[in-house]
Amino acid sequence: MPSDATKRPHFLLQPSELAEEGAPAEVLLTGADAHHIHRVLRLRPGEEIEVSCQGRTYVVRLTRTSPAAVQGRVVAQVKERREPRARVILAQALLKGEKMEWVIQKGTELGVKGFIALEARRAVVQLAPEKAAQRRERWQRIAREAAQQCGRPLVPFVAGPLPLQQVIESADYAPCLKLLAWEGEEEVPLHRALAGGGPEAGVVVFIGPEGGFTVEEVNAARRAGAQPVSLGPRILRAETAALAAVTAVLYSCGELG
Ligand code: SAM
Repeated sequence: MPSDATKRPHFLLQPSELAEEGAPAEVLLTGADAHHIHRVLRLRPGEEIEVSCQGRTYVVRLTRTSPAAVQGRVVAQVKERREPRARVILAQALLKGEKMEWVIQKGTELGVKGFIALEARRAVVQLAPEKAAQRRERWQRIAREAAQQCGRPLVPFVAGPLPLQQVIESADYAPCLKLLAWEGEEEVPLHRALAGGGPEAGVVVFIGPEGGFTVEEVNAARRAGAQPVSLGPRILRAETAALAAVTAVLYSCGELG
């Protein structure tokens, strides 16, 4: 039986899936989670999993397992340390193929609190409204799976696609430090913009599409309060730039150990 907390499989529950309000005494997992526990992990009564709900994580000892339903008793609450305190949001221009999914999966593991898909002038991908809604659902599912896999008790939000300017001007992010990664920036490297660690309200990192942001977009973003920053002298692919930038921001906030 796994004895170390980091080795217990982790599952996420919606508040509506709990039979009682507050700290639960019993939990019931059904559907894909039950199938995974019983058939894939082959866990049986007496073994332990971790279950998170509303940001709290519990150790659950299994009492009954079947491919359709798994029941367990809460035996302890875990001292939570896997959810980052820093609020780092990644606003990523729409990317081709599976790159967006990759960025969301890895960004969730690193500790990004939320993802905003951006419409940008040079984005190769343009999504009709119904397609955009489907994609957003898929991205949200990917964020959930990644949070479950890496033990985060909260699932990052996924929003958009929204126009770049609308996000920069949004009241929701007004108190945040807004950093726009631009390969044309020659004076402000990311580390200088982060000196001091960033405000309590959080940091929003803007990354362009494969073709980059246009100069007009960068100038409009600057006027609206975003700071263009350089990620160094090499031109990174958009997905590399996204992960490099959020890693550096999370590190400067003390989130990566
Ligand atoms: N337009 C560029 C070109 O074709 O030369 C490349 C754009 S790059 C592939 C995609 C995005 O990654 C950019 O919009 C920017 O946000 C980010 N990026 C890549 N390298 C960067 C760097 N050295 N400094 C800042 N941002 C960078």
